[in-house]
Amino acid sequence: MGKVTGFMEIERLEEGYKPVPERLKHYKEFVIGLDEAGSKLQAARCMDCGTPFCNNGCPVNNIIPDFNDLVYSGDWKNAITVLHSTNNFPEFTGRICPAPCEAACTLNVNDDAVGIKSIEHAIIDKAWENGWVTPVLAKHKTGKKIAVVGSGPAGMAAAQQLARAGHDVTLFEKNDRVGGLLRYGIPDFKMEKSHIDRRVEQMKAEGVTIRTSVLIGNFPKDSKVTNWAKETITAEQLKKDFDAVLLTGGSEQSRDLPVPGRENAGIHFAMEFLPLQNKINAGDKLKDQLRADGKHVVVIGGGDTGSDCVGTSIRHGAVSVTQFEVMPQPPEEENRPMTWPYWPLKLRTSSSHDEGSENGMLGREFAISTKSFSGKDGKVTELTTVRIEMQGGKMVEVAGSEQTYKADLVLLAMGFVNPVATVLEAFGVDKDARGNAKASTEFEGGYKTNVAGVFAAGDMRRGQSLVVWAIREGRQAARAVDEFLMGYSDLPR
Ligand SMILES: Cc1cc2nc3c(=O)[nH]c(=O)nc-3n(C[C@H](O)[C@H](O)[C@H](O)COP(=O)(O)OP(=O)(O)OC[C@H]3O[C@@H](n4cnc5c(N)ncnc54)[C@H](O)[C@@H]3O)c2cc1C
Ligand code: SF4
Repeated sequence: MGKVTGFMEIERLEEGYKPVPERLKHYKEFVIGLDEAGSKLQAARCMDCGTPFCNNGCPVNNIIPDFNDLVYSGDWKNAITVLHSTNNFPEFTGRICPAPCEAACTLNVNDDAVGIKSIEHAIIDKAWENGWVTPVLAKHKTGKKIAVVGSGPAGMAAAQQLARAGHDVTLFEKNDRVGGLLRYGIPDFKMEKSHIDRRVEQMKAEGVTIRTSVLIGNFPKDSKVTNWAKETITAEQLKKDFDAVLLTGGSEQSRDLPVPGRENAGIHFAMEFLPLQNKINAGDKLKDQLRADGKHVVVIGGGDTGSDCVGTSIRHGAVSVTQFEVMPQPPEEENRPMTWPYWPLKLRTSSSHDEGSENGMLGREFAISTKSFSGKDGKVTELTTVRIEMQGGKMVEVAGSEQTYKADLVLLAMGFVNPVATVLEAFGVDKDARGNAKASTEFEGGYKTNVAGVFAAGDMRRGQSLVVWAIREGRQAARAVDEFLMGYSDLPR
Protein backbone atom coordinates (compact mmCIF):
# COMPACT_ATOMS: atom_id res chain seq x y z
CA MET A 1 0.00 0.00 0.00
CA GLY A 2 1.45 3.31 -1.08
CA LYS A 3 0.17 5.97 1.31
CA VAL A 4 -1.64 4.64 4.36
CA THR A 5 -3.78 7.74 4.80
CA GLY A 6 -4.03 8.57 1.08
CA PHE A 7 -7.71 7.72 0.74
CA MET A 8 -8.58 10.15 3.55
CA GLU A 9 -6.46 13.03 2.29
CA ILE A 10 -6.65 12.95 -1.48
CA GLU A 11 -9.67 13.39 -3.70
CA ARG A 12 -10.22 11.35 -6.85
CA LEU A 13 -8.65 13.02 -9.88
CA GLU A 14 -10.52 12.88 -13.18
CA GLU A 15 -8.83 12.78 -16.58
CA GLY A 16 -9.26 15.99 -18.56
CA TYR A 17 -11.10 16.62 -21.81
CA LYS A 18 -10.20 19.06 -24.57
CA PRO A 19 -12.90 21.75 -24.92
CA VAL A 20 -15.99 20.81 -26.94
CA PRO A 21 -15.59 23.44 -29.74
CA GLU A 22 -12.02 22.26 -30.33
CA ARG A 23 -12.71 18.51 -30.30
CA LEU A 24 -15.76 18.75 -32.58
CA LYS A 25 -13.48 19.86 -35.42
CA HIS A 26 -11.91 16.41 -35.71
CA TYR A 27 -12.29 12.70 -34.97
CA LYS A 28 -9.19 12.32 -32.83
CA GLU A 29 -9.04 11.36 -29.15
CA PHE A 30 -9.57 14.26 -26.76
CA VAL A 31 -9.02 12.76 -23.31
CA ILE A 32 -6.04 14.24 -21.46
CA GLY A 33 -4.55 11.45 -19.38
CA LEU A 34 -3.08 11.96 -15.92
CA ASP A 35 0.57 12.97 -15.77
CA GLU A 36 3.08 11.20 -13.54
CA ALA A 37 2.31 13.31 -10.47
CA GLY A 38 -1.46 12.96 -10.96
CA SER A 39 -1.17 9.18 -11.42
CA LYS A 40 0.84 8.95 -8.21
CA LEU A 41 -1.82 10.88 -6.30
CA GLN A 42 -4.55 8.71 -7.76
CA ALA A 43 -2.63 5.54 -6.83
CA ALA A 44 -2.03 6.88 -3.30
CA ARG A 45 -5.78 6.61 -2.66
CA CYS A 46 -5.73 2.81 -3.02
CA MET A 47 -6.21 1.07 0.34
CA ASP A 48 -4.68 -2.26 -0.83
CA CYS A 49 -7.77 -3.99 0.52
CA GLY A 50 -7.42 -7.46 2.07
CA THR A 51 -10.20 -8.53 -0.28
CA PRO A 52 -9.70 -6.35 -3.35
CA PHE A 53 -13.19 -6.21 -4.82
CA CYS A 54 -11.78 -4.26 -7.79
CA ASN A 55 -9.83 -7.33 -8.86
CA ASN A 56 -12.98 -9.44 -8.82
CA GLY A 57 -15.06 -6.74 -10.52
CA CYS A 58 -12.58 -6.63 -13.41
CA PRO A 59 -13.44 -9.28 -16.05
CA VAL A 60 -9.74 -9.91 -16.77
CA ASN A 61 -8.97 -9.83 -13.03
CA ASN A 62 -6.34 -7.13 -13.32
CA ILE A 63 -4.12 -7.16 -10.23
CA ILE A 64 -5.10 -3.61 -9.42
CA PRO A 65 -3.74 -3.02 -5.89
CA ASP A 66 -0.29 -4.20 -7.03
CA PHE A 67 -0.02 -1.87 -10.01
CA ASN A 68 -1.46 1.00 -7.96
CA ASP A 69 1.33 0.45 -5.43
CA LEU A 70 4.00 0.26 -8.15
CA VAL A 71 2.78 3.52 -9.73
CA TYR A 72 2.81 5.18 -6.31
CA SER A 73 6.42 4.17 -5.84
CA GLY A 74 7.36 5.21 -9.39
CA ASP A 75 8.15 1.69 -10.61
CA TRP A 76 6.32 2.00 -13.94
CA LYS A 77 8.22 -0.79 -15.63
CA ASN A 78 7.04 -3.39 -13.15
CA ALA A 79 3.57 -1.83 -13.24
CA ILE A 80 3.26 -2.68 -16.96
CA THR A 81 4.54 -6.20 -16.31
CA VAL A 82 1.76 -6.70 -13.74
CA LEU A 83 -0.84 -5.16 -16.06
CA HIS A 84 0.23 -7.24 -19.06
CA SER A 85 0.08 -10.42 -16.96
CA THR A 86 -3.73 -10.30 -17.12
CA ASN A 87 -4.54 -8.04 -20.08
CA ASN A 88 -3.02 -8.18 -23.58
CA PHE A 89 -4.30 -4.74 -24.58
CA PRO A 90 -4.56 -2.28 -21.67
CA GLU A 91 -4.46 0.65 -24.11
CA PHE A 92 -7.88 -0.49 -25.39
CA THR A 93 -9.48 -0.96 -21.99
CA GLY A 94 -7.67 2.08 -20.50
CA ARG A 95 -9.57 4.13 -23.08
CA ILE A 96 -12.97 2.56 -23.64
CA CYS A 97 -13.76 0.21 -20.76
CA PRO A 98 -16.72 1.32 -18.61
CA ALA A 99 -14.56 0.19 -15.66
CA PRO A 100 -16.64 -2.27 -13.64
CA CYS A 101 -13.54 -2.44 -11.37
CA GLU A 102 -14.26 1.10 -10.21
CA ALA A 103 -17.89 0.28 -9.45
CA ALA A 104 -16.54 -2.59 -7.30
CA CYS A 105 -13.81 -0.53 -5.55
CA THR A 106 -14.29 -0.53 -1.76
CA LEU A 107 -13.96 3.26 -1.68
CA ASN A 108 -17.06 3.42 -3.88
CA VAL A 109 -19.21 2.34 -0.93
CA ASN A 110 -19.23 5.82 0.60
CA ASP A 111 -16.64 7.86 -1.31
CA ASP A 112 -15.30 8.15 -4.86
CA ALA A 113 -13.65 5.04 -6.29
CA VAL A 114 -9.95 4.99 -7.08
CA GLY A 115 -9.59 6.12 -10.72
CA ILE A 116 -8.26 2.70 -11.73
CA LYS A 117 -8.88 3.18 -15.45
CA SER A 118 -6.88 6.42 -15.52
CA ILE A 119 -3.94 4.62 -13.87
CA GLU A 120 -4.17 1.77 -16.40
CA HIS A 121 -4.23 4.35 -19.22
CA ALA A 122 -1.15 6.11 -17.82
CA ILE A 123 0.82 2.88 -17.32
CA ILE A 124 0.35 1.54 -20.83
CA ASP A 125 0.92 4.89 -22.56
CA LYS A 126 4.17 5.28 -20.64
CA ALA A 127 5.18 1.72 -21.55
CA TRP A 128 4.72 2.39 -25.27
CA GLU A 129 6.52 5.75 -25.02
CA ASN A 130 9.50 4.08 -23.37
CA GLY A 131 9.70 1.15 -25.77
CA TRP A 132 8.81 -1.40 -23.07
CA VAL A 133 6.17 -3.11 -25.23
CA THR A 134 8.08 -5.53 -27.41
CA PRO A 135 7.27 -8.86 -29.10
CA VAL A 136 7.19 -11.84 -26.73
CA LEU A 137 8.66 -14.71 -28.69
CA ALA A 138 7.74 -18.34 -28.04
CA LYS A 139 10.62 -20.40 -26.64
CA HIS A 140 9.81 -23.34 -28.91
CA LYS A 141 7.41 -24.11 -31.73
CA THR A 142 4.81 -26.87 -31.46
CA GLY A 143 4.14 -27.34 -35.17
CA LYS A 144 0.36 -27.09 -34.52
CA LYS A 145 -1.73 -24.91 -36.82
CA ILE A 146 -4.62 -22.87 -35.46
CA ALA A 147 -7.15 -20.71 -37.32
CA VAL A 148 -8.74 -17.84 -35.43
CA VAL A 149 -11.82 -16.55 -37.29
CA GLY A 150 -12.61 -12.89 -36.53
CA SER A 151 -10.09 -10.25 -35.46
CA GLY A 152 -11.96 -8.32 -32.74
CA PRO A 153 -10.45 -8.09 -29.25
CA ALA A 154 -11.36 -11.75 -28.55
CA GLY A 155 -9.62 -13.01 -31.70
CA MET A 156 -6.62 -10.72 -31.23
CA ALA A 157 -6.09 -11.77 -27.60
CA ALA A 158 -6.48 -15.47 -28.45
CA ALA A 159 -4.15 -15.27 -31.46
CA GLN A 160 -1.49 -13.50 -29.40
CA GLN A 161 -1.66 -15.98 -26.53
CA LEU A 162 -1.57 -19.01 -28.87
CA ALA A 163 1.43 -17.64 -30.81
CA ARG A 164 3.25 -17.07 -27.51
CA ALA A 165 2.56 -20.75 -26.66
CA GLY A 166 4.45 -21.69 -29.83
CA HIS A 167 1.61 -22.47 -32.25
CA ASP A 168 1.35 -21.35 -35.88
CA VAL A 169 -1.63 -19.04 -35.74
CA THR A 170 -3.52 -17.50 -38.67
CA LEU A 171 -5.98 -14.74 -37.82
CA PHE A 172 -8.73 -14.42 -40.47
CA GLU A 173 -10.86 -11.29 -40.90
CA LYS A 174 -13.57 -10.67 -43.51
CA ASN A 175 -13.15 -6.89 -43.37
CA ASP A 176 -10.14 -5.04 -44.73
CA ARG A 177 -8.49 -4.24 -41.39
CA VAL A 178 -7.95 -6.00 -38.08
CA GLY A 179 -9.85 -5.02 -34.93
CA GLY A 180 -13.54 -5.99 -35.20
CA LEU A 181 -15.79 -3.45 -33.53
CA LEU A 182 -12.75 -1.67 -32.09
CA ARG A 183 -11.84 -0.83 -35.68
CA TYR A 184 -15.20 -0.31 -37.34
CA GLY A 185 -17.71 0.29 -34.53
CA ILE A 186 -16.02 2.43 -31.89
CA PRO A 187 -15.31 5.91 -33.29
CA ASP A 188 -11.75 7.22 -33.48
CA PHE A 189 -12.60 9.99 -31.01
CA LYS A 190 -13.02 7.27 -28.35
CA MET A 191 -10.04 5.21 -29.53
CA GLU A 192 -7.67 6.04 -32.36
CA LYS A 193 -6.85 3.06 -34.55
CA SER A 194 -3.07 3.44 -34.38
CA HIS A 195 -3.37 1.57 -31.06
CA ILE A 196 -4.64 -1.49 -32.96
CA ASP A 197 -2.02 -1.12 -35.72
CA ARG A 198 0.81 -1.15 -33.17
CA ARG A 199 -0.51 -4.37 -31.64
CA VAL A 200 -0.91 -5.95 -35.08
CA GLU A 201 2.80 -5.25 -35.72
CA GLN A 202 3.67 -6.81 -32.38
CA MET A 203 1.55 -9.88 -33.17
CA LYS A 204 3.14 -10.28 -36.61
CA ALA A 205 6.58 -10.14 -34.99
CA GLU A 206 5.42 -12.86 -32.59
CA GLY A 207 4.56 -15.06 -35.58
CA VAL A 208 0.82 -14.50 -36.14
CA THR A 209 -0.17 -14.59 -39.81
CA ILE A 210 -2.86 -12.03 -40.54
CA ARG A 211 -5.26 -12.56 -43.42
CA THR A 212 -7.76 -9.74 -43.93
CA SER A 213 -10.59 -9.56 -46.52
CA VAL A 214 -11.09 -13.33 -46.17
CA LEU A 215 -14.53 -14.65 -45.22
CA ILE A 216 -14.70 -18.04 -43.57
CA GLY A 217 -17.87 -20.04 -44.16
CA ASN A 218 -21.05 -18.60 -45.64
CA PHE A 219 -22.61 -15.16 -45.47
CA PRO A 220 -26.09 -14.21 -46.69
CA LYS A 221 -25.89 -12.12 -49.90
CA ASP A 222 -28.48 -9.55 -48.75
CA SER A 223 -26.91 -9.09 -45.28
CA LYS A 224 -26.53 -5.54 -43.97
CA VAL A 225 -23.58 -6.68 -41.84
CA THR A 226 -20.27 -5.34 -43.17
CA ASN A 227 -18.48 -7.88 -45.30
CA TRP A 228 -15.60 -6.54 -47.35
CA ALA A 229 -14.13 -9.97 -48.11
CA LYS A 230 -12.48 -10.57 -51.47
CA GLU A 231 -12.01 -14.27 -50.87
CA THR A 232 -13.98 -17.04 -49.20
CA ILE A 233 -12.66 -20.21 -47.55
CA THR A 234 -15.20 -22.89 -46.68
CA ALA A 235 -15.54 -24.18 -43.17
CA GLU A 236 -14.68 -27.70 -44.40
CA GLN A 237 -11.44 -26.50 -45.98
CA LEU A 238 -10.43 -24.60 -42.85
CA LYS A 239 -11.04 -27.65 -40.64
CA LYS A 240 -8.89 -29.72 -43.01
CA ASP A 241 -6.04 -27.18 -43.08
CA PHE A 242 -5.81 -26.49 -39.33
CA ASP A 243 -5.49 -28.59 -36.17
CA ALA A 244 -7.98 -26.39 -34.32
CA VAL A 245 -10.34 -23.53 -35.16
CA LEU A 246 -11.43 -20.78 -32.78
CA LEU A 247 -14.53 -18.80 -33.81
CA THR A 248 -14.44 -15.20 -32.58
CA GLY A 249 -16.75 -13.62 -35.18
CA GLY A 250 -18.67 -11.36 -32.80
CA SER A 251 -22.42 -10.84 -32.53
CA GLU A 252 -22.99 -8.79 -35.63
CA GLN A 253 -26.70 -9.15 -36.41
CA SER A 254 -28.29 -5.81 -35.48
CA ARG A 255 -31.75 -5.72 -33.87
CA ASP A 256 -34.27 -4.31 -36.36
CA LEU A 257 -37.41 -2.24 -35.80
CA PRO A 258 -40.03 -3.72 -38.14
CA VAL A 259 -42.76 -1.10 -37.64
CA PRO A 260 -44.86 0.46 -40.44
CA GLY A 261 -42.76 2.72 -42.70
CA ARG A 262 -39.46 0.90 -42.03
CA GLU A 263 -38.98 0.57 -45.81
CA ASN A 264 -38.43 4.34 -46.21
CA ALA A 265 -34.94 5.43 -47.26
CA GLY A 266 -32.93 7.12 -44.52
CA ILE A 267 -33.46 4.45 -41.85
CA HIS A 268 -30.23 2.57 -41.17
CA PHE A 269 -28.55 0.36 -38.65
CA ALA A 270 -25.86 2.17 -36.64
CA MET A 271 -23.38 -0.28 -38.11
CA GLU A 272 -24.17 0.94 -41.62
CA PHE A 273 -23.22 4.45 -40.45
CA LEU A 274 -20.29 4.23 -38.01
CA PRO A 275 -17.85 2.02 -40.00
CA LEU A 276 -17.82 4.42 -42.96
CA GLN A 277 -16.59 7.37 -40.88
CA ASN A 278 -13.82 5.21 -39.45
CA LYS A 279 -12.82 4.22 -42.99
CA ILE A 280 -12.65 7.87 -44.04
CA ASN A 281 -10.56 8.64 -40.95
CA ALA A 282 -8.20 5.85 -42.04
CA GLY A 283 -7.67 7.67 -45.34
CA ASP A 284 -9.97 5.56 -47.56
CA LYS A 285 -11.82 7.25 -50.40
CA LEU A 286 -15.50 6.28 -50.49
CA LYS A 287 -17.91 6.96 -53.35
CA ASP A 288 -20.79 7.36 -50.94
CA GLN A 289 -20.80 8.03 -47.25
CA LEU A 290 -23.96 7.92 -45.18
CA ARG A 291 -23.80 11.34 -43.51
CA ALA A 292 -25.82 13.39 -41.05
CA ASP A 293 -24.95 16.91 -42.34
CA GLY A 294 -27.90 19.27 -42.28
CA LYS A 295 -30.22 16.52 -41.05
CA HIS A 296 -32.52 16.02 -38.12
CA VAL A 297 -31.16 12.77 -36.74
CA VAL A 298 -33.04 10.39 -34.46
CA VAL A 299 -30.96 7.68 -32.79
CA ILE A 300 -33.08 4.82 -31.48
CA GLY A 301 -31.25 3.07 -28.63
CA GLY A 302 -29.76 4.58 -25.51
CA GLY A 303 -26.52 2.59 -25.14
CA ASP A 304 -22.88 2.96 -26.22
CA THR A 305 -23.62 2.42 -29.90
CA GLY A 306 -26.32 5.10 -29.80
CA SER A 307 -24.00 7.51 -28.02
CA ASP A 308 -21.33 6.91 -30.69
CA CYS A 309 -23.93 7.77 -33.37
CA VAL A 310 -24.66 10.99 -31.46
CA GLY A 311 -20.97 12.05 -31.39
CA THR A 312 -20.46 11.17 -35.05
CA SER A 313 -23.67 12.96 -36.19
CA ILE A 314 -22.66 16.10 -34.30
CA ARG A 315 -19.23 16.08 -35.98
CA HIS A 316 -20.91 15.64 -39.38
CA GLY A 317 -22.93 18.82 -38.76
CA ALA A 318 -26.42 17.51 -37.99
CA VAL A 319 -29.09 20.15 -37.31
CA SER A 320 -30.45 18.26 -34.33
CA VAL A 321 -29.90 14.89 -32.70
CA THR A 322 -32.49 13.13 -30.55
CA GLN A 323 -31.73 9.89 -28.78
CA PHE A 324 -34.50 7.53 -27.66
CA GLU A 325 -34.30 4.99 -24.86
CA VAL A 326 -37.25 2.70 -24.24
CA MET A 327 -36.48 2.25 -20.52
CA PRO A 328 -37.36 4.94 -17.94
CA GLN A 329 -34.67 7.49 -17.05
CA PRO A 330 -32.49 5.97 -14.31
CA PRO A 331 -31.53 7.96 -11.19
CA GLU A 332 -28.55 10.36 -11.44
CA GLU A 333 -26.92 8.68 -8.43
CA GLU A 334 -26.96 4.97 -7.78
CA ASN A 335 -28.13 3.51 -4.48
CA ARG A 336 -24.64 2.44 -3.39
CA PRO A 337 -25.48 0.25 -0.38
CA MET A 338 -27.94 -1.62 -2.63
CA THR A 339 -25.71 -2.05 -5.66
CA TRP A 340 -22.05 -2.14 -4.57
CA PRO A 341 -19.89 -4.02 -5.66
CA TYR A 342 -22.00 -4.69 -8.74
CA TRP A 343 -22.53 -2.56 -11.83
CA PRO A 344 -25.10 0.06 -10.80
CA LEU A 345 -28.08 1.36 -12.70
CA LYS A 346 -27.68 5.11 -13.04
CA LEU A 347 -27.95 7.83 -15.67
CA ARG A 348 -24.85 7.69 -17.85
CA THR A 349 -23.83 10.81 -19.71
CA SER A 350 -21.11 10.23 -22.27
CA SER A 351 -18.69 12.76 -23.74
CA SER A 352 -20.86 12.72 -26.89
CA HIS A 353 -23.92 13.66 -24.82
CA ASP A 354 -21.93 16.52 -23.28
CA GLU A 355 -21.00 17.74 -26.77
CA GLY A 356 -24.66 17.71 -27.86
CA SER A 357 -25.85 19.42 -24.67
CA GLU A 358 -23.20 22.13 -24.86
CA ASN A 359 -24.35 22.93 -28.41
CA GLY A 360 -28.02 22.82 -27.42
CA MET A 361 -28.72 20.31 -30.17
CA LEU A 362 -29.23 17.06 -28.27
CA GLY A 363 -32.50 15.74 -26.92
CA ARG A 364 -32.52 12.61 -24.78
CA GLU A 365 -35.90 10.95 -24.45
CA PHE A 366 -36.57 8.09 -22.07
CA ALA A 367 -39.54 5.73 -21.75
CA ILE A 368 -40.41 6.17 -25.41
CA SER A 369 -41.18 3.68 -28.16
CA THR A 370 -41.37 4.21 -31.93
CA LYS A 371 -44.68 3.12 -33.44
CA SER A 372 -44.14 4.03 -37.10
CA PHE A 373 -42.07 5.95 -39.63
CA SER A 374 -43.57 8.10 -42.36
CA GLY A 375 -41.97 9.65 -45.38
CA LYS A 376 -42.28 11.64 -48.59
CA ASP A 377 -41.21 10.27 -51.97
CA GLY A 378 -39.95 7.15 -50.21
CA LYS A 379 -37.66 9.05 -47.80
CA VAL A 380 -38.23 9.18 -44.07
CA THR A 381 -39.42 12.59 -42.79
CA GLU A 382 -40.81 11.84 -39.35
CA LEU A 383 -41.59 9.17 -36.84
CA THR A 384 -44.44 8.65 -34.41
CA THR A 385 -43.79 7.62 -30.84
CA VAL A 386 -45.70 6.66 -27.75
CA ARG A 387 -44.69 6.99 -24.09
CA ILE A 388 -44.09 3.87 -22.05
CA GLU A 389 -44.63 3.27 -18.36
CA MET A 390 -43.99 0.35 -16.07
CA GLN A 391 -47.12 -1.26 -14.65
CA GLY A 392 -46.81 -4.39 -12.55
CA GLY A 393 -43.30 -5.00 -13.88
CA LYS A 394 -44.48 -4.72 -17.49
CA MET A 395 -43.91 -1.95 -20.02
CA VAL A 396 -47.23 -0.57 -21.25
CA GLU A 397 -48.05 2.25 -23.68
CA VAL A 398 -49.56 5.42 -22.21
CA ALA A 399 -52.87 6.10 -23.96
CA GLY A 400 -53.00 9.44 -25.80
CA SER A 401 -49.22 10.04 -25.54
CA GLU A 402 -48.51 9.83 -29.29
CA GLN A 403 -46.04 12.40 -30.57
CA THR A 404 -44.21 12.99 -33.86
CA TYR A 405 -40.53 13.85 -34.32
CA LYS A 406 -38.94 15.26 -37.44
CA ALA A 407 -36.33 12.87 -38.83
CA ASP A 408 -34.29 12.87 -42.06
CA LEU A 409 -31.94 10.20 -40.77
CA VAL A 410 -32.87 7.45 -38.32
CA LEU A 411 -30.11 5.31 -36.83
CA LEU A 412 -31.12 2.03 -35.22
CA ALA A 413 -28.81 1.31 -32.29
CA MET A 414 -30.87 -1.19 -30.34
CA GLY A 415 -28.17 -3.76 -29.82
CA PHE A 416 -27.23 -6.94 -31.60
CA VAL A 417 -29.32 -10.08 -31.48
CA ASN A 418 -26.74 -12.76 -32.29
CA PRO A 419 -23.91 -13.78 -34.63
CA VAL A 420 -24.65 -14.16 -38.33
CA ALA A 421 -26.27 -17.61 -38.25
CA THR A 422 -24.81 -18.91 -41.54
CA VAL A 423 -21.26 -18.70 -40.17
CA LEU A 424 -22.09 -21.04 -37.27
CA GLU A 425 -24.18 -23.25 -39.54
CA ALA A 426 -21.30 -23.62 -42.00
CA PHE A 427 -19.27 -25.23 -39.20
CA GLY A 428 -22.24 -27.27 -37.91
CA VAL A 429 -21.90 -25.51 -34.54
CA ASP A 430 -24.94 -25.77 -32.23
CA LYS A 431 -26.54 -22.50 -31.12
CA ASP A 432 -27.88 -21.64 -27.68
CA ALA A 433 -31.40 -20.27 -27.12
CA ARG A 434 -30.25 -16.77 -28.13
CA GLY A 435 -28.59 -17.91 -31.36
CA ASN A 436 -25.00 -17.63 -30.04
CA ALA A 437 -22.39 -20.37 -30.44
CA LYS A 438 -23.15 -22.95 -27.75
CA ALA A 439 -20.05 -23.51 -25.61
CA SER A 440 -19.54 -23.42 -21.87
CA THR A 441 -16.64 -21.56 -20.26
CA GLU A 442 -16.17 -23.99 -17.42
CA PHE A 443 -13.09 -26.06 -16.65
CA GLU A 444 -12.17 -28.90 -19.00
CA GLY A 445 -13.92 -28.57 -22.31
CA GLY A 446 -14.31 -24.83 -21.81
CA TYR A 447 -15.06 -22.90 -25.01
CA LYS A 448 -15.49 -26.18 -26.94
CA THR A 449 -18.42 -26.38 -29.33
CA ASN A 450 -20.17 -29.61 -30.32
CA VAL A 451 -17.79 -29.92 -33.31
CA ALA A 452 -14.46 -31.59 -32.50
CA GLY A 453 -11.58 -29.11 -32.68
CA VAL A 454 -13.86 -26.07 -33.06
CA PHE A 455 -14.00 -23.55 -30.21
CA ALA A 456 -15.92 -20.27 -29.78
CA ALA A 457 -15.30 -17.15 -27.67
CA GLY A 458 -16.14 -13.46 -27.29
CA ASP A 459 -19.42 -11.92 -28.43
CA MET A 460 -19.95 -14.89 -30.76
CA ARG A 461 -20.31 -17.11 -27.66
CA ARG A 462 -21.58 -14.77 -24.93
CA GLY A 463 -23.64 -12.33 -27.02
CA GLN A 464 -22.97 -8.63 -27.33
CA SER A 465 -20.80 -7.50 -24.46
CA LEU A 466 -17.68 -5.44 -23.74
CA VAL A 467 -14.12 -5.30 -25.03
CA VAL A 468 -12.77 -6.40 -21.66
CA TRP A 469 -14.99 -9.53 -21.67
CA ALA A 470 -13.84 -10.30 -25.22
CA ILE A 471 -10.20 -10.09 -24.10
CA ARG A 472 -10.93 -12.38 -21.15
CA GLU A 473 -12.69 -14.95 -23.33
CA GLY A 474 -9.95 -14.79 -25.98
CA ARG A 475 -7.29 -15.47 -23.34
CA GLN A 476 -9.23 -18.28 -21.69
CA ALA A 477 -10.19 -19.89 -25.01
CA ALA A 478 -6.51 -19.78 -26.05
CA ARG A 479 -5.69 -21.86 -22.99
CA ALA A 480 -8.51 -24.30 -23.79
CA VAL A 481 -7.24 -24.73 -27.38
CA ASP A 482 -3.65 -25.14 -26.15
CA GLU A 483 -4.75 -27.83 -23.67
CA PHE A 484 -6.77 -29.60 -26.39
CA LEU A 485 -3.74 -29.73 -28.71
CA MET A 486 -0.96 -30.39 -26.19
CA GLY A 487 -2.70 -32.17 -23.31
CA TYR A 488 -1.63 -29.40 -20.90
CA SER A 489 -1.20 -25.62 -20.99
CA ASP A 490 1.01 -23.09 -19.29
CA LEU A 491 -1.13 -20.22 -20.51
CA PRO A 492 -2.97 -18.35 -17.72
CA ARG A 493 -6.69 -18.95 -17.38
C1 LIG B 1 -20.64 1.15 -31.79
C2 LIG B 1 -20.14 0.29 -30.68
C3 LIG B 1 -19.52 0.89 -29.59
C4 LIG B 1 -19.04 0.11 -28.55
N1 LIG B 1 -18.41 0.74 -27.51
C5 LIG B 1 -17.85 -0.01 -26.54
C6 LIG B 1 -17.13 0.62 -25.49
O1 LIG B 1 -17.03 1.84 -25.43
N2 LIG B 1 -16.54 -0.18 -24.56
C7 LIG B 1 -16.63 -1.54 -24.61
O2 LIG B 1 -16.05 -2.21 -23.75
N3 LIG B 1 -17.33 -2.16 -25.57
C8 LIG B 1 -17.94 -1.43 -26.55
N4 LIG B 1 -18.65 -2.05 -27.54
C9 LIG B 1 -18.75 -3.54 -27.53
C10 LIG B 1 -17.44 -4.18 -28.01
O3 LIG B 1 -16.93 -3.50 -29.13
C11 LIG B 1 -17.64 -5.65 -28.33
O4 LIG B 1 -18.20 -6.29 -27.21
C12 LIG B 1 -16.30 -6.34 -28.67
O5 LIG B 1 -15.67 -5.71 -29.76
C13 LIG B 1 -16.54 -7.82 -29.00
O6 LIG B 1 -15.34 -8.39 -29.39
P1 LIG B 1 -15.28 -9.72 -30.27
O7 LIG B 1 -13.86 -9.94 -30.58
O8 LIG B 1 -16.03 -10.80 -29.60
O9 LIG B 1 -16.10 -9.40 -31.61
P2 LIG B 1 -16.02 -8.21 -32.66
O10 LIG B 1 -15.31 -7.03 -32.14
O11 LIG B 1 -17.41 -8.03 -33.15
O12 LIG B 1 -15.13 -8.81 -33.84
C14 LIG B 1 -15.57 -9.87 -34.64
C15 LIG B 1 -14.84 -9.83 -35.97
O13 LIG B 1 -15.05 -11.07 -36.65
C16 LIG B 1 -15.19 -10.81 -38.04
N5 LIG B 1 -15.92 -11.93 -38.63
C17 LIG B 1 -17.18 -12.33 -38.33
N6 LIG B 1 -17.51 -13.43 -39.06
C18 LIG B 1 -16.44 -13.71 -39.83
C19 LIG B 1 -16.19 -14.72 -40.80
N7 LIG B 1 -17.10 -15.65 -41.09
N8 LIG B 1 -14.99 -14.73 -41.43
C20 LIG B 1 -14.04 -13.80 -41.14
N9 LIG B 1 -14.24 -12.80 -40.22
C21 LIG B 1 -15.41 -12.77 -39.57
C22 LIG B 1 -15.96 -9.51 -38.08
O14 LIG B 1 -15.82 -8.84 -39.32
C23 LIG B 1 -15.34 -8.74 -36.92
O15 LIG B 1 -14.24 -7.98 -37.37
C24 LIG B 1 -19.18 -1.31 -28.59
C25 LIG B 1 -19.84 -1.91 -29.67
C26 LIG B 1 -20.32 -1.11 -30.70
C27 LIG B 1 -21.03 -1.75 -31.86
S1 SF4 C 1 -10.97 -2.03 -4.09
FE1 SF4 C 1 -10.24 0.11 -4.52
S2 SF4 C 1 -9.11 0.68 -2.67
FE2 SF4 C 1 -9.35 -1.57 -2.57
S3 SF4 C 1 -7.50 -2.44 -3.54
FE3 SF4 C 1 -8.99 -2.17 -5.20
S4 SF4 C 1 -8.58 -0.11 -6.06
FE4 SF4 C 1 -7.55 -0.23 -4.06
